[in-house]
Amino acid sequence: MSNEVEMEKGVPTDQKEHRNFIENIIAEDLKSGKHDGWVITRFPPEPNGYLHLGHTKSICLNFGLARDNVKTRCHLRFDDTNPLKESTEYVNAIKEDIKWLGFDWGENLHFSSDYFDTLYGFAVELIEKGLAYVDSQSPEEIAENRGTFEAPGKNSPFRERSVEENLKMFTEMKEGKYKDGEHVLRAKIDMAHGNMCMRDPILYRIRHVEHHRTGDQWKIYPMYDFTHGLSDSIENITHSLCTLEFQDNRPLYDWFVENVSSPSTPRQIEFAKLNLDYTLMSKRKLLQLVEGGHVEGWDDPRMATISGVRRRGYPAKAIRKFNEMIGVGKQESVIELSILEERVRDELNQTTKRCMGVIDPIKVTITNWEEDHEIDAPFHPKDESFGSRKVKFGKELYIERSDFMEDPPSPKKWFRLGPNRSVRLRYAYVITCDEYVKDDEGNVVELKCRYHKDSFGGVTPEGMKKVKGIIHWVNAEDAKNVEVRLYDRLFKHENPSACKDFLSELNPESLKIVEAKVEPFLADAKPNDQFQFERMGYFTADSKLSSQGKPVFNRTVTLKDNWQKKK
Ligand code: ATP
Ligand code: MG
Repeated sequence: MSNEVEMEKGVPTDQKEHRNFIENIIAEDLKSGKHDGWVITRFPPEPNGYLHLGHTKSICLNFGLARDNVKTRCHLRFDDTNPLKESTEYVNAIKEDIKWLGFDWGENLHFSSDYFDTLYGFAVELIEKGLAYVDSQSPEEIAENRGTFEAPGKNSPFRERSVEENLKMFTEMKEGKYKDGEHVLRAKIDMAHGNMCMRDPILYRIRHVEHHRTGDQWKIYPMYDFTHGLSDSIENITHSLCTLEFQDNRPLYDWFVENVSSPSTPRQIEFAKLNLDYTLMSKRKLLQLVEGGHVEGWDDPRMATISGVRRRGYPAKAIRKFNEMIGVGKQESVIELSILEERVRDELNQTTKRCMGVIDPIKVTITNWEEDHEIDAPFHPKDESFGSRKVKFGKELYIERSDFMEDPPSPKKWFRLGPNRSVRLRYAYVITCDEYVKDDEGNVVELKCRYHKDSFGGVTPEGMKKVKGIIHWVNAEDAKNVEVRLYDRLFKHENPSACKDFLSELNPESLKIVEAKVEPFLADAKPNDQFQFERMGYFTADSKLSSQGKPVFNRTVTLKDNWQKKK
C-alpha cells in the first residue's frame, strides 16, 4: 500500500495567514491561553461500518490541527455504544483507513466502552441529584409522549419515582433483572422544552447482547448522546468538532457536563458536512449495498468508502489536497465529484509511468514491414528520472477500435485513422491505411497499413502534409492480455441520498470488465502499481484480484472529465 505518512507539518494555527472559522476560534484560544495553549481534538467514529469520503473531511480537520500545532494531540475514539451494529472488523478497517490517509493517533486510541464504568457512575450521580429517573413506559408510549415540534411532550407517570427507587431499579437493570425494553433511564430535564433533544432524553437502555469489547459484562448500554459529549470531557478534548446536525445536541452535551463530575468542558463547534454529487455517503445505506450484493464489498472500487477509493487507486495525498481545497465552513453545499477526480489526476500525473494499453483492440497489419525492431520509449514525457523501455515494432499491431472510422462524419476534423488516412503511432512511425477487412456481420476486423520509414522521430514523410493525429498502439506478438475494469458512477442520480429507493438509481453500467492488450512489462505489475495508459487514463493494479504475472487493472480515473461532457 503506498503511504507517505511522513507528512510535512503545517503552520501552527495562530500563525496561519488564511484561517477558517474554526481555526479563528482556536487561534483566539491560543492567544488568550484558554486551554494552557493546548489544542486537543478527536475523530470519533462509531464502528458500525467502513469510513467514507465524508469522514475524510473530519479526519483531515481534526488530525490536521494536531499535525500543525505545538501542544497538541488528536485522539481516535470509537464511540461504541451500540453493540448490535458494531464489530472489531469495522474497528480494524477504520484504523487502517486513517493510517493510509496519512494520520497517526499515536498513544491516543480510545473507546467509549472503556468509560462504561465511569459513565455508569455519572448516571448514578444524576439519579442522586434528582436529575434522572427510571421510566417504565413502553418504547411506543415514550415516543408518543415526546410531543412534536409544535406540541410539548407529556410527563411520564414514572417521572416522580423516588431517588431510592430509581437507584434500586437502575442497579437491577444493570444486574440483568429486566428484559430488553422493559425500562430505560432518562434524564429529568423538561418535557416541554423547545429543543426536542432536551425532552428527558434516554440515557440507558437494556440490551442483553454481547459487546465486541466488553463481552457480556453489561446488560445496559449508554445512549450515544449521553456517551459522546461526556467521553470528550473525560478525554479533556478542548475543541469538539462535529457536523451541523449535532447543533441541537450541543445544549444537551453541555447539560450533562455541567451536572456530573466530569473533568473538563470541551467546546463543541459544528461545521458543514462534505456532500458529493452522484455519491452515497451514509454507512447505513452503504451497508445495504454490501449486504444486498449490489457491490463486491465495502472496498469495491466503485464505493465512496476510503477502502474503495484506495483500491481504485486514489492517492491519499489527492484526498488530503481536496479537503484542503474545499475548506471548512458552516454552509451546507454539494461539491462536484469531478473536483476530487481532478486532484487524483494531478497527483497521478506526477507519480506514474506512461505506457500503452489498448482497451478495445483492432488488428493492424503492416504490409511493407521488413523486420522487427525496437524503439526506445520514455516512461515520462518531461521527467527523465522515470527512465525508458524498449517497445517492439512488428508486422502486426493493435490499435484502439475507436481510432479508426470508415466514414468519419466530419472528415476535416478527423485526425485519426480511416481509409487512405494517415496517423502517427506514438514514439514510432506514420502509417497510412490502404485497406480494411470486415467479417460477415460487417464489423471491421483488420486494417492493412503501410508505414513510412522516413517518418521516425516526428518527421513528416516526404510528399505528405503534417500528420496531426498521434495514437497509442501495442505490438501484437509480445502484447499481454490483461483484465481491465472500467468504472463509471455507481449511481445515475445526482443525489442518490435523497432518493427514496436509492437502489433503483444504481447505474447498470458502473462496471465494465474487458480484456485489453498491453505492453509486455505490464504483466509484471505488482498490486497497487500505477500507470498512465496513454490517452486512456490512470490505472492501478488491483490489490485483491491481481496475481503473479496476472495483474487486473482498475481504471482509477480517465485523463479528461468525460462525465461533464455527458452531462
Ligand atoms: P454516517 O451517516 O455515514 O453513518 P456518521 O456521522 O453517523 O456518518 P460517525 O461514525 O458518527 O458517522 O462519524 C464520525 C465523525 O465523522 C463524526 O464526527 C461526524 O460528524 C463526521 N462525519 C460524518 N460524515 C461526515 C461528512 N459527510 N462530512 C464531514 N464529516 C463527517
Ligand atoms: Mg451515525
